[in-house]
Amino acid sequence: MKIAFIGLGNMGAPMAANLAAAGHDITGFDVAGASAPGVHSAPSAAEAVRGAEVVITMLPNSAILRAVAAEVIPAMGSGAVLLDCSTVDVQSAREVAEQAQAAGLGALDAPVSGGIGGAAAGTLTFMVGGGDAAFATARPLFEIMGQKAVHCGPSGNGQAAKICNNMILGVTMIATCEAFALADKLGLSRAAMFDVVSTSSGYSWSMNAYCPAPGVGPTSPADNGYKPGFAAELMLKDLGLAQQAAEAADADTPMGARALELYRTFVEDESGRGKDFSAMLPRFETRGR
Ligand code: NAD
Repeated sequence: MKIAFIGLGNMGAPMAANLAAAGHDITGFDVAGASAPGVHSAPSAAEAVRGAEVVITMLPNSAILRAVAAEVIPAMGSGAVLLDCSTVDVQSAREVAEQAQAAGLGALDAPVSGGIGGAAAGTLTFMVGGGDAAFATARPLFEIMGQKAVHCGPSGNGQAAKICNNMILGVTMIATCEAFALADKLGLSRAAMFDVVSTSSGYSWSMNAYCPAPGVGPTSPADNGYKPGFAAELMLKDLGLAQQAAEAADADTPMGARALELYRTFVEDESGRGKDFSAMLPRFETRGR
């Protein structure tokens, strides 16, 4: 398939490289001049998308997505599919999809989970919003870049699934970290705490698969000095998108709102930037009531 890939950063470069390695013809563009193995470079986004059957975008935020979409949609051939894998707000995803559809294109929002490791290994999970025909076109590409693609409904629903999942993740990580810090102060060993909670009703992915306490449970960023992994500032971004959506939809999300506040303080005032999001545990350790 002839594919354009716009945004060859930490996630986009390995995703594009995997598509090229699988035999697809990939032309890439990144404002920073970044490239990826096996990917032909174009001088602009509009040049990259000419003649492409699928245009994949993997960009930092919604303002950049909107700007890139405005440039590439008029340059895409009728019937081509615009496949955005960035994490952006639901409203922007829906508006970009409407613009693409009005121009006779297919459109999918397909944010991912799995991080840089998943992008490199081709084991991402895609949460996809958009029409059936566009999903069918993109499915073989999801199979190369990822291990699972869930079609969540119409445009915007991929982003909706992603922010709901990550709101749960942010809240449960904070709860797990504050419980470890309390257990420390109550004289409970971390090994005992893990053994009990990971097999009791307090278990979660944060405790069982990504334990924030070093030396306990499976290997996680806690065992590597809290080097990300999933950086606290990316969690902050996703919690912000969740609250933006909750406000627009008039949904009451008090735990998500509190998690956003805590990650904002951690990232902006407490040198949490650049650390894994599970570094909430050393933050709680050093604090009293
Ligand atoms: P990144 O900053 O490493 O990459 C983004 C790339 O887009 C950069 O190379 C940048 O130069 C390029 N870019 C910016 N403006 C552009 C433009 N106008 N035209 C072309 N290229 C442009 O970010 P990333 O970590 O690769 O993340 C990309 C997206 O994936 C984000 O929306 C992020 O929230 C999401 N995401 C990231 C992770 C992760 O672990 N890094 C996990 C899941 C989802």
